[in-house]
Amino acid sequence: MNHFHYVKNELYCEEVPVREVAEQAGTPFYLYSHATLERHIQRFRQAFAEVPHLVCFSAKANSNLAVLRVFVNNGAGIDIVSGGELYRARKAGCEPQKIVYSGVGKTEGEIHQALAADILMFNVESEQELEKIDAVAGASRKKARIAIRVNPDVDPQTHPYISTGMKKAKFGINIGQALYQYRKAAALANIEVVGVDCHIGSQLTKLSPFVDAIAKIRELVQALQQEGFATRYLDLGGGLGITYADETPPDFEEYAQAVIDATRDLGVTLIFEPGRVLVGNAGILVCRVLYTKKGEVKNFVITDAGMNDLARPSLYGSYHGIIAIDRSRTETLTADVVGPICESGDFLAQDREIPAFRPGDLVAVTSAGAYGFTMSSNYNSRPRAAEILVKGQKILTVRRRETLEDLIRGETVPESL
Ligand SMILES: *Cc1c(COP(=O)(O)O)cnc(C)c1O
Repeated sequence: MNHFHYVKNELYCEEVPVREVAEQAGTPFYLYSHATLERHIQRFRQAFAEVPHLVCFSAKANSNLAVLRVFVNNGAGIDIVSGGELYRARKAGCEPQKIVYSGVGKTEGEIHQALAADILMFNVESEQELEKIDAVAGASRKKARIAIRVNPDVDPQTHPYISTGMKKAKFGINIGQALYQYRKAAALANIEVVGVDCHIGSQLTKLSPFVDAIAKIRELVQALQQEGFATRYLDLGGGLGITYADETPPDFEEYAQAVIDATRDLGVTLIFEPGRVLVGNAGILVCRVLYTKKGEVKNFVITDAGMNDLARPSLYGSYHGIIAIDRSRTETLTADVVGPICESGDFLAQDREIPAFRPGDLVAVTSAGAYGFTMSSNYNSRPRAAEILVKGQKILTVRRRETLEDLIRGETVPESL
C-alpha cells in the first residue's frame, strides 16, 4: 500500500502531480511519500502493540535526515552500521537509548563515539570485536551494553548478496559457539550483556526462514536465562520483503503473529530493524527520457538516471517497475531502459515491455525508496540526484541536487604539481 496513484492518466504522489515536482526540481530525483512512510511505521508498530517492543529503522536503507525524522516522530529508534549513521541518527533527533549498532567492522573510533553517545546496545559480530569494545569502554570508564549477533544457519531464500544468516556468511557468530562467547562476555569487566541479536538476510518473502531462525535462537535464549544472563532484549533484525514485481511477502500482521507466538514466553523486549519494508514502496526515482534507439537486436530507452543513481539493477539484477508519469499513450515496446554511464551494466530494466516512450517523457522507476539514494555515487562525475518529500499538497526538498562544486569538494591540486 502506498500513496502513488494515477488520477486520470497522470501519476500523483499524495495530492501532487509528479510532473509538477519534476518541473520544479529537474530530473532525476527521488520522490518519497510522507503519508506512506507514516503508514508503514505506524502499522508495523501497531502489529506488535500487544508485546514490549522497539522498532529501530535500519538507516542504511534510506538515511535522509527528513526520512529518519518521520520515523523518530513516530516513536521509532534507529539501527546504525557506522559512525556516519550514528551522526545522522542524532541529527535526526533520535534518542541514544533507541539506537542499536550493528556491523562486522566497527572501528575503535566508532565504538568510542557510540559509547560517548550512550546508545542502547552494540550488536557484536566477533570475539575480537567484543574484546575491542571492552577495552574502549574501560579506557573511557564506561560499561558497554551488548548483544551477540548469532548466526542461526538458516537459508533465507533470497539473493546471495543479501543473505546474511548462513554458516558461510561473514556476519555474526555461529550459534554453536554462542554460549561460549556469552560466558566470555560475562567475564569482561566493561561489558554488560543485555540480549541476543540476529539478522538473517534481506527481501525475505516467506515466513518460514524467520520461524526457523527463531526456533534456534529460542533455545539459546533459554540456555542463557538458565545460566542467569539478563537477556532483556531479543533483536530479530530486519529483512521482511516487499513487492517489486509479483512477490507476495507476508504482511506486518502475519509476520507479527508468527514472531509473537514464537517468543511470548521468553519475557524479552523485542527489537526489530526493518529497513526495506518501511521505505521501499514509499519512494520512486523519477527521470526523463533523453533518447530512444533501435539497435539490431534490441531497443533502448536512454534516461537521465543511471546506475550511479540506482545501483540495484546492476548490482543484483533487481527488478524495478518502469512506468509512465503520463500514461495516456497506450502503445508499448520491448526495450532495455539504460542510463548514460559508460558501462554495459548500466541499466534500470532489461527486455521489458514498457510504454512506447519518446524523448522528453517522464519515467518513474518504482519501489526505489530503499537502497536507492543511499547506494548512489558520483561515478562518471555525475552530481547525485535531489531527494524530494511530498506531504499532502506540499513539495519539500529534503536534499538539494548536488552541484559541480559538490563534485570536487575536498580535492586539491598540490602546489608542486
Ligand atoms: C541491512 C540490515 C537491516 C535491514 O534489512 P532490510 O532487509 O532492509 O529490512 C537490519 N539489520 C541489519 C543488521 C542489517 O544489516
